[in-house]
Amino acid sequence: MIPYGRQDIIQDDIDTVIETLQSDFITQGPQVALFEKKIAEYCQAKYAIACNSATSALHLACLALGITEGDQVWTSPITFVATANAVKMCGAQVDFVDIDPETSNLSVSVLKSRLSQAEKQNALPKAIIVVHMAGLSCDMAEISSLTQKYDIKIIEDAAHAIGGSYQDAKIGACQYSDITVFSFHPVKIITTAEGGLATTNNPVLAATMEQLRSHGVTRDEEKLQNTADGPWYYEQHFLGFNYRITDIQAALGISQLKRLDDYVKARNALAKRYNDALSVLPVRLPEIYKDRLSAFHLYIIKLNTPDRSEHLRLFKALRKEGIGVNLHYIPVYRQPFYQEQGFKRDDFPNSEAYYQSAITLPLFPTMTFEEQDKVIETLVNLLK
Ligand SMILES: *Cc1c(COP(=O)(O)O)cnc(C)c1O
Repeated sequence: MIPYGRQDIIQDDIDTVIETLQSDFITQGPQVALFEKKIAEYCQAKYAIACNSATSALHLACLALGITEGDQVWTSPITFVATANAVKMCGAQVDFVDIDPETSNLSVSVLKSRLSQAEKQNALPKAIIVVHMAGLSCDMAEISSLTQKYDIKIIEDAAHAIGGSYQDAKIGACQYSDITVFSFHPVKIITTAEGGLATTNNPVLAATMEQLRSHGVTRDEEKLQNTADGPWYYEQHFLGFNYRITDIQAALGISQLKRLDDYVKARNALAKRYNDALSVLPVRLPEIYKDRLSAFHLYIIKLNTPDRSEHLRLFKALRKEGIGVNLHYIPVYRQPFYQEQGFKRDDFPNSEAYYQSAITLPLFPTMTFEEQDKVIETLVNLLK
């Protein structure tokens, strides 16, 4: 089976991990801080807080922005459940904004009408989590111009998008957002096995996320509320978590980061090759935009006409031929856990159409032309 995604681990990565294992620190040593520094520099963000997953980083981001019971947070329904779950973990309510059929990102025009409606009903969200689907940035300038007048916070779920850019800035620069979150799960662009990271330019948000990551505890003398009893002293100020990443993982991340730009280049080259070969088929292919570079975490095609049975036929036939196609994602409001909130499928026509037409084809930086040609030939045969 040609998988839809696959990590790339080379000897350098292995050597770095072994070196860290043989060092004095395997957790909370120098590698974590160095990894954070390197990602912050890469993205041109002031602060980076590494975590044991993107899910943890999203949770910390929501908590640092003060999201709590009684608040509403909006996001896209076409995302992994973790995006919405982070909001629920804070006790807040999630609502979904339908997608743009072209980009599969949260629709700016739907957002605009939902915001003016919510303003009238005094039911504005506290924050919006935008998702850069498949690695393509949302239209952040438009989104931030809509949310600014209401003081709505913005989190970028960039789990798919490290190495991509928007306008003149790397994703993660937080030019139009409060916090950006990356994932380093093996199917994503670079990996630390499990792992995630939040970037921000706001020192208060950074310090809060850092303290929440480790039990709500601080040793920072300037922050102590009582007088230190001795050199062992630390204080817990609020309820935090153990969301720390290890030095072993951070070392792997530092090693992987050296190849990030090459990975994104390879993914874009393969995507272009798919686009050229598949343009004759009755499917919608990913668009290439001038003002943003997609990290191409996923290569997703959509049937021109959404059709549940044709979609299923293709899916089964491709899998049978050894092509590891997948579907990203089941609209989150369709999950039984979220259905209890009473979402109506009719409220999300674009997401429903997407769910009946999207297919993720294999794409990873080490994919060979031979493997890609097999995917192309199989698909052409099935659709001709
Ligand atoms: C993978 C993913 C996450 C969660 O990442 P983990 O590191 O596995 O916690 C969140 N959001 C999106 C869009 C993802 O694809």
